[in-house]
Amino acid sequence: MLQTSNNMNDKVKQLFDSQLIHWPLAQNNYAGLKTVRQKSISFEGFDLIVQFNPARIVSSGAKVDGKSIAERKCFLCEANRPAEQEAVLFKQYSILVNPFPIFPEHFTIVHQRHIPQQIKPFFGDFLQLAKEMSDYVLFYNGPACGASAPDHLHFQAGTKDFLPLIKDYHALKTKNALCFYKNNSCEVFRLDNYLRTVICIESSDEFAINDYFIGLYDTLQGTQLNEPMMNIVCDYDQGKWYTFIFPRETFRPWQYSAEVPEKLLVSPATVEMSGVFITPIESHFDKINKEDICSILTQSSMKFDIN
Ligand SMILES: [Zn+2]
Repeated sequence: MLQTSNNMNDKVKQLFDSQLIHWPLAQNNYAGLKTVRQKSISFEGFDLIVQFNPARIVSSGAKVDGKSIAERKCFLCEANRPAEQEAVLFKQYSILVNPFPIFPEHFTIVHQRHIPQQIKPFFGDFLQLAKEMSDYVLFYNGPACGASAPDHLHFQAGTKDFLPLIKDYHALKTKNALCFYKNNSCEVFRLDNYLRTVICIESSDEFAINDYFIGLYDTLQGTQLNEPMMNIVCDYDQGKWYTFIFPRETFRPWQYSAEVPEKLLVSPATVEMSGVFITPIESHFDKINKEDICSILTQSSMKFDIN
């Protein structure tokens, strides 16, 4: 008999295969993904991938200000979703195939109610789903740093070995990761010399991760009322959660709204922070270089000092 985790992995894989047969939009966009142009830019000890992906203009170019959001129909609410889009259920969530993919297999996990994007009350669900969908990485974009539907709670999941972050972390950990918190059930590291701040909570105890995360969230939030800007990636591997947190300083860099020739339509969210820069405009793909990537990651990332 299959274990529960395998069961969910199988169900979403079956959903993916079925949607690619029965849903032309998904079929076309996943076929298109196989021919996207990519280039790799090397840094000390790691590489960053740049992907020219014109279909992602829907996200990279999305207007996410309050007025624009209020005036559009929510594309994550069931009533407004394409008729062909089917779902696998998990608790109060619907797992959907993302028809505008970055990953070879890319899912959007939407709450069944139209409630605002926020992580704190739902972080436990996020961890449980990361375990259930252990063939994939699970991730979260904060409402002000990458979520193209900040008004509707959602996570995403994608092919496991696609984000350089996971491989980089394990390769660079011995040399560049500083363990700054440890108790009986969890260890917390900051990965240094990586152009952006990333914190990793390692544990096989979901409650220990949750406790640490809530403390970190409150520290980052300070006296502000809004959710502290962050992107989160979770990889459940061999009984252990690796939860990566990117604390954010700004959402879109100055290059986003600059005039030509400085203009670069790059809208950093979890995928970019994890080492894959999506450029929906081909001329931007061609010209983006090492200095641009350093500049964008530095602007996007919040410094995280350990006292
Ligand atoms: Zn909605």
